[in-house]
Amino acid sequence: MPDFRKLEQALQERQAQGLLRERRSLESAQGPEIQIDGKPFLGFCSNDYLGLANHPQVVEAFCETARRYGVGAGASHLVNGHHQEHALLEEALADFTGRARALLFSTGYMANLGTIAALVGRSGLVLEDRLNHASLLDGGLLSGAKFLRYPHGDLEALEQRLQQATADHVLVVTDGVFSMDGDIAPLVEMSALCRRHGAWLMVDDAHGLGTLGAGGGGCLEVQQLTVDEVPVLVGTLGKAFGTAGAFVAGSETLIEALIQFARPYIYTTAMPPAVAAATRASLKLAREEGWRRERLDQLVQTFRREMSAMGYQLMASSTAIQPVLVGDVEQAMAMSEVLEREGILVTAIRPPTVPAGTARLRVTFSAAHTDAHLDRLLQAFHQIKTLRE
Ligand code: PMP
Repeated sequence: MPDFRKLEQALQERQAQGLLRERRSLESAQGPEIQIDGKPFLGFCSNDYLGLANHPQVVEAFCETARRYGVGAGASHLVNGHHQEHALLEEALADFTGRARALLFSTGYMANLGTIAALVGRSGLVLEDRLNHASLLDGGLLSGAKFLRYPHGDLEALEQRLQQATADHVLVVTDGVFSMDGDIAPLVEMSALCRRHGAWLMVDDAHGLGTLGAGGGGCLEVQQLTVDEVPVLVGTLGKAFGTAGAFVAGSETLIEALIQFARPYIYTTAMPPAVAAATRASLKLAREEGWRRERLDQLVQTFRREMSAMGYQLMASSTAIQPVLVGDVEQAMAMSEVLEREGILVTAIRPPTVPAGTARLRVTFSAAHTDAHLDRLLQAFHQIKTLRE
């Protein structure tokens, strides 16, 4: 038997710090009303922002394609797993983002690892916001390039690092909407800095695409940025689009280079064609049904108004990600437990996912939440206030 004492010790330490993570098994479809351990809950923590994960048309596209083509893609894209359903979705995503081409990846994590490493070699430099998603930070670390982080949203610090850069290629990488804070990167200013210093800008708009902009075009639509200003755009499909997987959109050259050089694209099984077909259906709904974005916005505004009135500290976010800042880990856990007793699921986000001292309850909204759902959430937060006073 291998000796796992070190691992056991690490686990015990994590538990002692109150940081042990546990999984729960959902016994229902994803949505506002879920079931866990036989009990009903209201969920305010999924990324199914537009309520499309269980939409009948998306489910039907999935089932119909699975019946026709089976479940597994059976091979990687460059062997013979690339299916016409993948090609059709790539065309639809290129059209949606207004870019020459798009390339599917099996997950967003892989899209980020693969893209960063393919774009910069050992002689390159990767500059990243400190609060970027783990997959972007890991991508920078694993790329083999020089890797530096700058303080969150700090344009001066970014400019300083760009001025000091001596590398052949510089890639600046940022979340569009920051996943744990919900705020939006200052992309107009960042793209101007990148242009001035000859750097490429890569934006992961996992949480903005589908939810922001009149047409759901995300942070780039809101900030009116073109492919010249943001040459590398990453989107994920497991959030607003309600399915799974991810894509990179950009120029012909970018996409061809990723097909040739992005190892997490090359050496993995292609996503099931039925997932691609389901995503094409959900993308159509996301583009056409602007009321889903309006609804999301309405929920967010009411939540912010009511929570501020109760004296809660919210973060500078106008997006579907609305963290309630608590600070202390134990207090965040205790609040999450009170919510759970009230039948409401909101996850407490703790270090190391967020910086020490900034534990929070990460509330997320979906266009599928009703006014009654929101009322129950607000009542539960009201109850926490009265318990603590
Ligand atoms: N980027 C961001 C900003 C994310 O929040 C996430 C996932 N939560 C990912 C990438 C990874 O995407 P996926 O879940 O498809 O691996």
